[in-house]
This record gives sequence, structure tokens and C-alpha cells, in this order.
Amino acid sequence: MPATERRIIYRHIDEPGYTTDLVCYQRHGGYEILRKAIQRQPEELVQEVKDSGLKGRGGAGFPTGVKWGFLDRKSGKPVYLICNADESEPGTYKDRQIIYKDPHQLIEGTVLSAFAIQARLAFIYIRGEMFGGFTILERAIEEARAANFVGNNILGSGYSVDIIVHRGAGCYICGEETGLIESLEGKRAYPRIKPPYFPAVLGLYNCPTIVNNVETLCQVKHVLDMGGKEFAKIGVPGDSGTHIWGLSGHVAKPGYYEIESGKATVRDLLYDFGGGPPAGRTIKAIIPGGVSMKILRMGEKFKVKLPDGSPGEWGVLDIPLDSGSFAQCGTSLGTSGMIFMDDTTDMVEALANLNAFYAHESCGQCTPCREGSLWLKKITTRVCDGGGRMEDIDLVKTIADQVAGRTICAHGEAVAWPCQSNVPKFRDEWEAKIRAQIHAREHPEGAATTARTGLRLV
Ligand code: SF4
Repeated sequence: MPATERRIIYRHIDEPGYTTDLVCYQRHGGYEILRKAIQRQPEELVQEVKDSGLKGRGGAGFPTGVKWGFLDRKSGKPVYLICNADESEPGTYKDRQIIYKDPHQLIEGTVLSAFAIQARLAFIYIRGEMFGGFTILERAIEEARAANFVGNNILGSGYSVDIIVHRGAGCYICGEETGLIESLEGKRAYPRIKPPYFPAVLGLYNCPTIVNNVETLCQVKHVLDMGGKEFAKIGVPGDSGTHIWGLSGHVAKPGYYEIESGKATVRDLLYDFGGGPPAGRTIKAIIPGGVSMKILRMGEKFKVKLPDGSPGEWGVLDIPLDSGSFAQCGTSLGTSGMIFMDDTTDMVEALANLNAFYAHESCGQCTPCREGSLWLKKITTRVCDGGGRMEDIDLVKTIADQVAGRTICAHGEAVAWPCQSNVPKFRDEWEAKIRAQIHAREHPEGAATTARTGLRLV
């Protein structure tokens, strides 16, 4: 039986006749959950989200209810909610579908979450390039405000919250929550040092702040609809709900597919949803969840604990689509944007491409990230341009090892993880490429050209 989708967040997305306006949203039950939930105590809603086991969908996968529980209530300062809509991770495009095709779902999720944490002002920080999404959201918020789903005394409940949509300027590091907060305050997006700047304690304007991803806030709506304990039954223990998988790279049918957590495998994703690799090709590698996650090579085997607790072994295609399973295989589902690479991909080129991206996006605050990312870019570019040396292979890995864990924000890991996984797993390709270059330099009379090929990600 082919695997099938379970659409909760994307229930109406791509449905014929479904539009972004309020009338259509309400015809499909829109804002009914808000109408009921706003009569309840905010603490009950927080408990529902805790009971649901919902994990954030922005990449880190931190439990949402636990995050909300960290809010500093004693300070007496105002509480803010920020929706992180700065979706910039290459290979990831799930949130923009919600913004462009179902904006009221995000607005309802935002108001519900703001009510639960008792925020009186919420921001949607949207990536600058998504100008169309910005105008759609602005119009939708205006509609919601006119219908009293946003603004003062919402539906006569006595609770008020407004939503401001703020455009970023197209900077990857604004997706990091403290960099985003700095940017929202009108400053350069330098991520803050934690501690002390945990947003739940010292966030926007040094007030307690919750930053949640677009999909996470939409999931909150469905948690409150079905109840936390019922929601927790969807998926697998430790990873409840659905994930929206974005498929890209070398697959016949790239696209987005909402799948119950752990109820399909990478194989299902590739063949049942993605239509397999292009004709005549075979898949060589995958990056599971946005390009910063560690790459997996076909043929790898992983010793794992199976769901029944017994020991087992998985190949890459056997990995179930949930966070715990990818963690067992030494990587992460991240933002669930899976990139497939077939046998035509030059893995050194692919890494050089990523290194150029991460060097460009480093904010420059900390030396290991600023210097390390640039150094990695220079080395891998030189190898791609025909100037490779055998010692470059270990050098790339060593530099990456010196970056990871030594920086202010997780951009350091984003720089390091692709190198730390690509180099040892594809060492044979690195050696073959450099060996050919050394031969060509020593015998220029018979050398083939070193035209650059490979998967272009950025
Ligand atoms: Fe900036 Fe990189 Fe340091 Fe993050 S890790 S603060 S992006 S220099």
C-alpha cells in the first residue's frame, strides 16, 4: 500500500476554490476554535499544548509547551509573541505555503497562542523577499481586525491583542530567534548571548518573549481543537502531529507533503510521494531537513532501537519520518525540507555551494564562524576550481571541528555539520577529484578541463 498524506495544517491548501479571504476561511470553520478557546483560562490552553507534546517546527524541535512555561511572569513586564516567518533555510518552503494560501489559519493560531501566554502584542516577522506574503497577511489581518478576531476586546472576551507584520531585509541570520529580535528592535541582526538573553526572560525590548515558527502556531490551533491528549495520539511517542515535508533536488515530483509523524519512511517519501529519482538515475545522498543538517549517504547502515525497544538496523531509505528516528541516525529532520541528490551530483561542488552560502550569511560576531566559514569556502572553491591538495580533505574537517560548539549561535553548527558529514562520508570522491587535479597539473598537456558541475542550491 503506498503511503498517504494526513493533511491537518494543509487541509485546505490547494483545495479548488479555497481562497485567502475571511469569508472562505469562516465557511471552512475558521475562527470557531478561537471563539471557544477565548472563553477558557489561558493556563488551561498552555496545559493543552504541554499535553500535546507538540515540538517546534522551525528546526530545533524544542517542545512548545515547555518553551511557553519558561516565560518570566514575575518581572511584571509585558509579554510579546513573535511569529518567525523568516523561512530562509535552503530546501525549506513549507511556511510560505501557509502564508500565501491560508493566512487566516496563521492569524488564528497567533491570536490563540498570544491569548494562552497573555501577550498583548504579537509580531509576524516575515522574510523580506516574501513581499507577496506580506501584503496577503496585511490584508488578512485587516479583515480579522474588522471582524473583531484581532484587536480590542476580541469577541467580547475582554482580551485584546494586535498583530504587526514586520518585513526583514533578507538575511539568513534573522531566522535565529535572538538575531530576529535585534532586527525587530531596529538593530543589526546580531544574535545574542544565552545566557542571559533567553527570549522567555530577556527578549524583545528586554521583556519576556516567545518566538514560534509559522507552522508551530498553526499546529497550536489544531491542538486546541482536538485537545492536547488527543493530539498526542497522532504520530509517534516523542514526536506528535504531522510534519510538512518539502521535497527538492533530484526527484521526479518535488513538492510538499503533510505526513503523520513516523508513519512513513524516507523510501515512501522518495517513491510514493516524490515519484523516485529522474529516469535512469539512482539516489546517492539525502540532506534530511534543510541544508544545515548532516548529510546521509545511500548504503549507510545505522544500529538503532526499533519502536518495540528491540535492536535493529536501518538503511537510509528505512528511516521513519520522525525526529527521534533521524536522531538515531546521527542527523536531524530540522525544518523537514529533504533534498535528494542523485549519482550525477559532485559532492565536493555541493559542499562548496553550501560553504559559499554560510560564509555569506555569517554575521561576523564570533571569530570561529566568521573566519572558519570563509576559510571553508575558500578551500572548497579552490578544490572545485582545480587547485585541490590532498591535505585539504582533512583540513576542511579540522576547521569545521573547530567551529562547532564555539560560537554564539547555531550558525556555527550550520557551517560545521555539512563539512563534518560530507568529508568523511564522501572521502573517496574528494580523493578521486583531487588526484585527477594533481595529475592534470603534473601533465598539463593531456589534462581534461575542470568544468564545475554539481547541484546548485544557492
Ligand atoms: Fe554570527 Fe556566526 Fe557567531 Fe552566529 S555563530 S553570532 S552567525 S558569527
